[in-house]
Amino acid sequence: MVTMEEYDVLVVGAGPAGSSCAKAIAEKAGKSVLLIEKRQTPASACAGGIPAYHLEKLGLSIPKEVILEEIHEGVILSPSYSLIIDESIFDSGPAGFIINRKKFDQWLIKEAISSGVEYRNNTDFLHVKDEIKAKVCVDASGVSRVVGKANGFQFNSKPNDLGVGLQYTVDLPDSFDPHRVYFYLNAQKIPRGYFWIFPINEKRCKIGVAIAKATNAKLPAIKILNKFATDLGFKIDTPYERLGGLIPLGRCVKSTQPNIFLIGDAGNYCSPLTGEGIYYAIKSGRIAGEVIAFDKGVKFFNKLIKKSPRKSISWQYRAKRVFYSLNNKDLDGLVKAIGNYEI
Ligand SMILES: Cc1cc2nc3c(=O)[nH]c(=O)nc-3n(C[C@H](O)[C@H](O)[C@H](O)COP(=O)(O)OP(=O)(O)OC[C@H]3O[C@@H](n4cnc5c(N)ncnc54)[C@H](O)[C@@H]3O)c2cc1C
Repeated sequence: MVTMEEYDVLVVGAGPAGSSCAKAIAEKAGKSVLLIEKRQTPASACAGGIPAYHLEKLGLSIPKEVILEEIHEGVILSPSYSLIIDESIFDSGPAGFIINRKKFDQWLIKEAISSGVEYRNNTDFLHVKDEIKAKVCVDASGVSRVVGKANGFQFNSKPNDLGVGLQYTVDLPDSFDPHRVYFYLNAQKIPRGYFWIFPINEKRCKIGVAIAKATNAKLPAIKILNKFATDLGFKIDTPYERLGGLIPLGRCVKSTQPNIFLIGDAGNYCSPLTGEGIYYAIKSGRIAGEVIAFDKGVKFFNKLIKKSPRKSISWQYRAKRVFYSLNNKDLDGLVKAIGNYEI
């Protein structure tokens, strides 16, 4: 006979959403919280970019050893024009950071454990779901959405509402500035998506592409990335690292069952326009954590999250649809109107 373990809250998935949620519950209420992670260490595909204004909003001060590079400028390039966003528009300090995602996730897990969370890695929800009893269950399993799927949530998404991201870590050619991030827009070469370059030190960078899954079906991300990177002078034959994953690009999924909360990628708390997800994972995780800590229930969670970040995600969803409809002339017109730097 299987013996049942009992907890007040079970959080599934120790990415930024799960750890932040578990920590918020444990530090605010005397509840027993078990955080489980399928892998030895969480390692979701990520370029590690976080804008400084999002860190500020979260009040998150990242340890130095987690930061790979400080970013001082961002450049958005259309086929013929570029727009430079420099740090002078921010109050102080760098415009953003490139972090080591593995170290970042480890740091958040440690913070959760220090707040009283019990953590178990190498523990797959699908293998232990009949052995652990919890009053509340949080799905923070990313795009796997294992708790939601096991409990009848419907995640049918439109072909453009799921994205594919692929990236290589390679040497940075001298022509690129190691303190700048670059975003390339080109409706012909990268339909319904964009290409990025994120430096991780003076000599290396991550180059990647994010496209809608519908595009990937016709023109695979790997082909787009290889051609674009080679054309820009990157040597991609033997990358230091190669990784890829799915990106939620749809509207947020409402938590509809009384004791099940969907947070982070599992609930589509991710920017449908850019694929930025770390901020939204932490934000949705913290909101769920506070609601659970004070026994306020799913309805209250839906109400709180509607204001922020769901409102902003809905706006970005509409902006994404406009972005997908633009051709190269439109993209040039847009970047020229704002930036006006010919390349
Ligand atoms: C190529 C790529 C680049 C990206 N770059 C950026 C970027 O630069 N900046 C940014 O902000 N966002 C980026 N994102 C998005 C970002 O990585 C995600 O939005 C973010 O990781 C979501 O956090 P999460 O905690 O919701 O899910 P995840 O980080 O995916 O964590 C989910 C965890 O659940 C675990 N899990 C899954 N199934 C089970 C199970 N059955 N049992 C137990 N545990 C389970 C997984 O192992 C994982 O550790 C990128 C995504 C991709 C694909």
